[in-house]
Amino acid sequence: MIYRNNPDIAKKYKSKRWQKLRQLKLNTNPLCERCLKKRIYNAAEIIHHKEYVNDKNYNDDNIFFNIDNLESLCRKCHNEEHFEKEKDYLFDENGDLIKNDY
Ligand SMILES: [Zn+2]
Ligand SMILES: [Zn+2]
Repeated sequence: MIYRNNPDIAKKYKSKRWQKLRQLKLNTNPLCERCLKKRIYNAAEIIHHKEYVNDKNYNDDNIFFNIDNLESLCRKCHNEEHFEKEKDYLFDENGDLIKNDY
């Protein structure tokens, strides 16, 4: 995930505003939302941005700080989400998605 290489995005994840929002989301949805649909009760561990945060949109509060863009997930579902959607794609140096042809 590209944000790991961007110190500005890392800073946003450390901000009080994010910590508060993250906690609010966890309090609202303490169980993994995807497992719950399958009637499996797993504690949520990760707050995932449905629309992924990237180098271009991280300053858009409607993406980063929008509770409607957040999903409570367990580690397994979060890994699946990123593995399934990202395995075929890479980011080029402009942050644009390019198809990975291995
Ligand atoms: Zn899950
Ligand atoms: Zn995620």
